[in-house]
Amino acid sequence: MFLAKMNYLEVEEYLKKSDTIVIPVGSLENHGKHMPLGTDTMIPDKIAELLDEKSDLLIAPTINYGATDDLVGFPGTISLGTEGLISLLRTICDQFYRYGFRHFMILNGHGGNSAAIQAVAMHMYRKGAYMANLNWWLMAGQINPEWAGGHGGAEETAGVMAVDPSLIKYEYIDLPEAIRNDISDEIPSGAWTSVIFKGVSIQIPREIKDITDNGWLAHGFKNDAPTKAKPEWGTEMLNSVADLIVEFGEAFGKAELPERVE
Ligand SMILES: [Zn+2]
Repeated sequence: MFLAKMNYLEVEEYLKKSDTIVIPVGSLENHGKHMPLGTDTMIPDKIAELLDEKSDLLIAPTINYGATDDLVGFPGTISLGTEGLISLLRTICDQFYRYGFRHFMILNGHGGNSAAIQAVAMHMYRKGAYMANLNWWLMAGQINPEWAGGHGGAEETAGVMAVDPSLIKYEYIDLPEAIRNDISDEIPSGAWTSVIFKGVSIQIPREIKDITDNGWLAHGFKNDAPTKAKPEWGTEMLNSVADLIVEFGEAFGKAELPERVE
């Protein structure tokens, strides 16, 4: 059920049976030349549609912007930053809490959002509520390791194909990953903003535009390539993730709440 389509009386009825709410959180950011900026919002929205078909979970409107500072600089990428997302998500969740919601399920579309979600989850925990961070792409890669992929790689490309194959710009789908050693050849670039020194990965936060002018990054996943994506893969993957979230939601909703400490 989508909260935005209900009236407040229906919300009151829902709260008599359940205090669980799903909040999709996305991002507006570059995913390579072959993918739309809204990839990390469109995929959670598709999973939310599937949750609506498969369950009675209450689904809040999607937060369409996220924390994506490292992708700023590619035109159209907009970041709230971690502090901005914490502030927004905490404000929203505090009001859901006031109405009686206590089991929060964040349907997350973007890895950069996790620091903010973890911070708000601890805030909710101290208020005697639980918040689960459901990172769909990591869940998918654990349901089937063959699905795991990097930023704008085959996993996300298949996910967007499941939303609408016409969103893919096929003329760019076979571009190479195109990583530069922007810091120095002695300290080559690794996965995302890491560098590799003597075989050891070290983080040096910086903007991805310094590392690639394309924007899709395999994260070190071997053989990841957007060309491998198929719409059937995407459909099966998003359905599998939605099925797991439905089952998790049933178990999570029954979990006894933590003691309130503030
Ligand atoms: Zn993404």
